[in-house]
Amino acid sequence: MTTTCTCAKPVPVERATRKGAATTFCAKCGQPLALRLRRAA
Ligand SMILES: [Zn+2]
Repeated sequence: MTTTCTCAKPVPVERATRKGAATTFCAKCGQPLALRLRRAA
């Protein structure tokens, strides 16, 4: 089960992991955003 952001207007924030991959999460709820929701802020 994956928990992702369900905000109507998520605030995407990109964070680089130690492995070099970038993870985008919502600054409002702190949950990760689905990849399909990733857009340039
Ligand atoms: Zn959110």
